[in-house]
Amino acid sequence: MGCRRVAAITDLVRVSLEPVAGSLVIGRSQPGRGAWLCAHSPSCLEEALRHRAFDRALRTTCSPAQLADLASLLPTTS
Ligand SMILES: [Zn+2]
Repeated sequence: MGCRRVAAITDLVRVSLEPVAGSLVIGRSQPGRGAWLCAHSPSCLEEALRHRAFDRALRTTCSPAQLADLASLLPTTS
């Protein structure tokens, strides 16, 4: 999503909004709208943040705190 690179589904992580807590969560089984990011790609996350891609994909406005939490959840090592 962030970098628009075409990747195999196994190389992507799905980010969605947890409706009760209102926090961003990672997982394929989460309900609702999802945004896909390349796994192990900090630059993909940076691109997504720069373009506010999460807001568009999830039809919400993500707060800086939500996005900071997400960044801490993502695996960044390959
Ligand atoms: Zn990407």
